[in-house]
Amino acid sequence: MAFDSLTEKLQNIFKNLRSKGRLTEDDVKEALKEIKRALLAADVNFKVVKDFVKSVQERAVGQDVMNGLNPGQMVIKIVNEELVKLMGSQTTEIKLQPGSAITVIMMAGLQGAGKTTTTAKLAGKFKLKGKKPLLAACDVYRPAAIKQLQVNGEKQGVEVFSMGENHKPANIAKAALEHAQKNGNNIVILDTAGRLHIDEDMMEELQEIKNTVTVHQTILVIDAMTGQDAVNVAKEFHEKAGIDGVIVTKLDGDTRGGAALSVKAVTGKPILYVGMGEKLSDLEQFYPDRMASRILGMGDVLTLIEKAEAEIDEEKAKQMAQKMKKNQFDFEDYLESMSQMKNMGGIGSIMSMMPGLGGMGGMGRMKGIDEEQTAQAEKSMARMEAMIYSMTPEERRNPDLLNPSRKHRIARGAGVDISEVNRMVKQFAEMKKLMKMVGKGGRKGKLRLPF
Ligand code: GDP
Repeated sequence: MAFDSLTEKLQNIFKNLRSKGRLTEDDVKEALKEIKRALLAADVNFKVVKDFVKSVQERAVGQDVMNGLNPGQMVIKIVNEELVKLMGSQTTEIKLQPGSAITVIMMAGLQGAGKTTTTAKLAGKFKLKGKKPLLAACDVYRPAAIKQLQVNGEKQGVEVFSMGENHKPANIAKAALEHAQKNGNNIVILDTAGRLHIDEDMMEELQEIKNTVTVHQTILVIDAMTGQDAVNVAKEFHEKAGIDGVIVTKLDGDTRGGAALSVKAVTGKPILYVGMGEKLSDLEQFYPDRMASRILGMGDVLTLIEKAEAEIDEEKAKQMAQKMKKNQFDFEDYLESMSQMKNMGGIGSIMSMMPGLGGMGGMGRMKGIDEEQTAQAEKSMARMEAMIYSMTPEERRNPDLLNPSRKHRIARGAGVDISEVNRMVKQFAEMKKLMKMVGKGGRKGKLRLPF
């Protein structure tokens, strides 16, 4: 998963700051220098890094220092907020035409960026929202692309419109729109042809499509693994063709994350979704605040909740989310969430989002967490379960009851050392703190970071 090394570096920087009781101006300067280095190493655009560090610096020495936070926490808070800002602050939805009018979305991008795959992934998202998308195969240079779209469309249960490879993309787009009008589709997604580099042909082709049908949204697909190149491509694309938003693919395989961090600042256009894997379900809506908390290694409770909502009992998940928000999450819920987590499979991917299970591969998803770590996590989950099962129902609902003698009893019951019980109770308390903070939106009022 992206940002692994950036997260590690930032955490070290923050750890260092926290170890000092009081921060001098030099401490802050030094930390900023290191943050700058860490961002550059993550392949974030140089100018973006410069502006970022400047903003953090201005705020760190300005009026923002207050609120009962210690100076180290203050710096983390500011870095968090500036990261959110850098990535666009708000989540941007793809703008659809009002009522039953058809929205035409044109997908653009270089060859291999993941355009065709993403087109099918996106169609799946729209379908989930009750829309009826139609995919149009406008990539006529790569016969395999048409086939690929058809196969993926079928998997998603979405119709694919194709005229083979002997027609102009603009004409295919026009015919697809007519087809959509007859068939009651309310979204048409055009999968256009990419090239190895940005060239005149590609731009002309996109322009011709735009001249022939009304394109409401042009979405650029870029490959995170190409780092700064991806950002340069985005900039050029935007200048030449005009884009409305960006989808960053292959974030699962990119350990640096620079493209995701820079693209909004460089193009002014927001990231709409991120691709997190090759499966058609591996497309996630982009939330700047959640991404920032992932980067800072704070886990991602909200994404976890959403995953749970999509894949498990919706009612239960909602109740749990409510409890998290109200800070009423208890060990009973923790047990329940663990059993649901098992149902959701893929403990590796979930683990990375669960702050209570931190330190087991950090944010690694897919690539980051290997089998051994997963097995270890499963073992640690089984031990946690054993400990929670050794509690009385009352203790599970009210962890404050856990005095030393009760903890000793639980340790004996679960066959673990008392230190393990202590650790779990402490982790649980930390997790609750984090949930409370995330539930409140994290930025209003007094922010207390769980460090
Ligand atoms: P196109 O040429 O832009 O249409 O690219 P494709 O859709 O054919 O994708 C190129 C390759 O990237 C394929 O092997 C996809 O499976 C893969 N791919 C696309 N998106 C992602 C992603 O988010 N993560 C990973 N790991 N692979 C992806």
